[in-house]
Amino acid sequence: MATVNGGISFWYAGTGIPLPREPLPGDAEADVVIVGGGYTGLWTAYYLKQAVPFLRITVLEAKFCGYGASGRNGGWLYNGIAGRDRYAKLHGHDAAVALQQAMNATVDEVVRVAAAEGIDADIQQGGVLEVAYSPAQLARLRAYHERETAFGEKDRVLLGAAESARRIRAAGTVGASWTPHGARVHPVKLLQGLAAAVERLGVTVHESTAVTEIRPKHAVTPYGTVRAPYVLRCTEGFTASVKGQRRTWLPMNSSMIVTEPLSARMWETIGWEGGETLGDLAHAYIYAQRTADGRIALGGRGVPYRFGSRTDNDGRTSERTVAALREVLVRLFPATAGVAVEHAWSGVLGVPRDWCASVQLDRTTGLGWAGGYVGSGVATSNLAARTLRDLVQQDSGQGHGTELTALPWVGHQVRRWEPEPLRWAGVRGMYAAYRGADRRELAGRSAATDPVARYADRLSGRH
Ligand SMILES: Cc1cc2nc3c(=O)[nH]c(=O)nc-3n(C[C@H](O)[C@H](O)[C@H](O)COP(=O)(O)OP(=O)(O)OC[C@H]3O[C@@H](n4cnc5c(N)ncnc54)[C@H](O)[C@@H]3O)c2cc1C
Repeated sequence: MATVNGGISFWYAGTGIPLPREPLPGDAEADVVIVGGGYTGLWTAYYLKQAVPFLRITVLEAKFCGYGASGRNGGWLYNGIAGRDRYAKLHGHDAAVALQQAMNATVDEVVRVAAAEGIDADIQQGGVLEVAYSPAQLARLRAYHERETAFGEKDRVLLGAAESARRIRAAGTVGASWTPHGARVHPVKLLQGLAAAVERLGVTVHESTAVTEIRPKHAVTPYGTVRAPYVLRCTEGFTASVKGQRRTWLPMNSSMIVTEPLSARMWETIGWEGGETLGDLAHAYIYAQRTADGRIALGGRGVPYRFGSRTDNDGRTSERTVAALREVLVRLFPATAGVAVEHAWSGVLGVPRDWCASVQLDRTTGLGWAGGYVGSGVATSNLAARTLRDLVQQDSGQGHGTELTALPWVGHQVRRWEPEPLRWAGVRGMYAAYRGADRRELAGRSAATDPVARYADRLSGRH
């Protein structure tokens, strides 16, 4: 069976690529205009319209809702947030605990809204299992486990090899950490259900409408300009294509493969009945889910970054990346050695220079944004959206500051990325260093993290 390569993602295989909604017909006015129809843009429209039903909200999407990472991700709806540890250093431990608790609650919030809106997104709340397969990974796993517990996750548990195997029999596992704050989702079913809910509420959504320029009170497109007191940028990995934003967030690639459905026999060998999302402690880490229709979807880093912050061509993925992900799959689950990879694709995520997600509304200009989630935006985008709702309400005099607007990621500023070719060389070098470090750690017996990886972490601003 030939592997389908690109075509946005496997998550569209069942339904096909949707026909786009009507583009913007000409100049228009709104109270809030949202640029980008991924989870961030749609959740923001959802919560704002629910809070203030008379608001005129317009979403402008360059292609179709779910074209970006929201239609391509690994379906880990989980409580990780990029930058929490740095926020602890900047704002104190308690502020970071509040952020973490808000993230824990966000997983439940998405599950709640999906049920309330009748969105069947194959959700299974089986938590997150992160495994280690080398002494160095195990040492990092223990430290990671302790850190997460210190940020208030008292329900997280450390598992030995045998306990971990009772959940998922991933070969070579020497230990694992499990948290209940995670769920497996079908990314596109969630996205499309959310888009439908937003339209039911009365939000206007225009697709095939790329915003070429954002300036105070204006979102400019080739078809006309939407004027609104608030313009919210929700373009994540595509942000570099917006005028003036080239070096704001780096578009980092992530790539995925999905197998054909596995036989009942293979599932007996592998286990994985609890629907946990599965990850590891490698520097170039992987993430995986057992899909509702009995496949394994597994992702990781392929070609990490393309010169000049170019994004992608509908998810096409290099053969080398597909082969590398397949190799990881078979190493973890030897039973899949003869199984076909049905689909491979890639997408871009947004990486700020300090790897910290943030949300902001500039009260003097009415310009706002949310993102820079690095690899964990499925849940974080929901927290960001509720925060943007509160910031807009506060600014427009319809509400006050809330617990969400007080969280430490609100209003965070960071410097821009270096110009090319430094950006390209830096990111490529970092991932080459990570891959080398992973190989050495797997082959060795030392519990110490490979020094090259430590150095790459420091240089890249990741830790
Ligand atoms: C392969 C992959 C796997 C991932 N796996 C996970 C995971 O398992 N768990 C997790 O938590 N996170 C994961 N992520 C990250 C997560 O998917 C994203 O953080 C999240 O979807 C971001 O949502 P968003 O709405 O901010 O951005 P996007 O979904 O990228 O949406 C941005 C939208 O803006 C549109 N747009 C861009 N430019 C313009 C413009 N100029 N005008 C108008 N519209 C524009 C785009 O077409 C796009 O639809 C993954 C990402 C990738 C790529």
